[in-house]
Amino acid sequence: MASTVDNLSVVVHGAGVIRLENQSIPEPGRNEVLIKIHSVGICGSDVHFWQHGRIGDFVVQKPMVLGHESSGAVIKVGCDVTHLRAGDRVAIEPAVPQENDDFCKIGRYNLSPTIFCCATPPGNGSLCRYYVHNANFCYKLPEGVSYEEGALIEPLSVGIHACRRAGVTFGSNILICGAGPIGLVCLLVAKSMGAAKVMITDLSPERLLMAKEMGADITLQAKRETPQEMADAVCGHLSGMPDITMECTGAEVCIQTAIYATRSGGTVVLVGLGSPMVNIPILNASTREVDIKGIFRYCNTWPMAISMLVSGRLNVLRSLVTHRFSLEDSLQAFETAHQGLGIKIIIRCDKDDPL
Ligand code: NAD
Ligand code: ZN
Repeated sequence: MASTVDNLSVVVHGAGVIRLENQSIPEPGRNEVLIKIHSVGICGSDVHFWQHGRIGDFVVQKPMVLGHESSGAVIKVGCDVTHLRAGDRVAIEPAVPQENDDFCKIGRYNLSPTIFCCATPPGNGSLCRYYVHNANFCYKLPEGVSYEEGALIEPLSVGIHACRRAGVTFGSNILICGAGPIGLVCLLVAKSMGAAKVMITDLSPERLLMAKEMGADITLQAKRETPQEMADAVCGHLSGMPDITMECTGAEVCIQTAIYATRSGGTVVLVGLGSPMVNIPILNASTREVDIKGIFRYCNTWPMAISMLVSGRLNVLRSLVTHRFSLEDSLQAFETAHQGLGIKIIIRCDKDDPL
């Protein structure tokens, strides 16, 4: 039976409407855990659902709790759960396939048509005090890995998956378009995987400064160049064409730049999600055997991310967090995110561990 004790939640009701509401506390099913949420990062998609009430075909048709970058403490386990117990600190992988289909069998469960992600309609998210999740998609955080780092594993996972799909390796020369949170996690992962040189572009000098502080070898501010001019400028600064370009803006001009800039036989990874239909220099890509790959979230990344955090080699990840708000101040947090201030905004949901 669900209880009605304080489960303050950030709920989107459709375009332009988010509210703080008290919801009932759910009971975990056999294979689930009830989590007292500690930290939740705001993602661009949360802001988009609030502003537009939809992303592509995913439409907010009934009130939905936002938030999918989260961590917390297990407070109750379902009867079939054996690997977690009350008191365990966990990071939550939000997208859970509902069936063991062919994609799950080959380890690419992010492609399963039955994948169900929290804070993607109709799935409620975790920006609340108490949240229930599939126990197999909750990963124990070892001593020394903070709740904030636990929440940051979600965006970090996009970077890990993108770098794996791109084939980043020891000595790679890489261009990243866009120094938002996703471009920055791609930068961190690429450097950890042994990339020799990483160059990053953005419109914003502040974001490029952050990228520099996080280890970018070269930064370049995009202005009003044509994609071809921008590609030439990139290759000039890199002293050659990048082996890999990771497009993290979704902007058509950047996708075009990515293709022109990447060396023959190299790889362009399309991480950014922008307009559903874009013009690209396809003959340039095909006659130079530039592979163009898509990215859909991540799979099999949490254990690796946790190991890297334990090793201390990803300590810089913490610097992504530029703003912190309490759950009660979530609406202000969303306004701040909407204004594009800072990089990663974290909402602290645990009233027993206030800011
Ligand atoms: P963000 O909006 O914070 O960052 C995008 C950055 O691109 C901004 O800093 C912006 O200034 C920069 N930019 C825009 N136009 C540019 C241009 N012409 N040249 C250079 N830089 C330019 O977004 P984010 O949270 O970092 O996410 C990046 C993209 O990744 C988004 O499109 C998001 O939807 C997408 N995403 C995709 C996946 C996936 O599974 N494929 C997962 C998460 C996010
Ligand atoms: Zn997200």
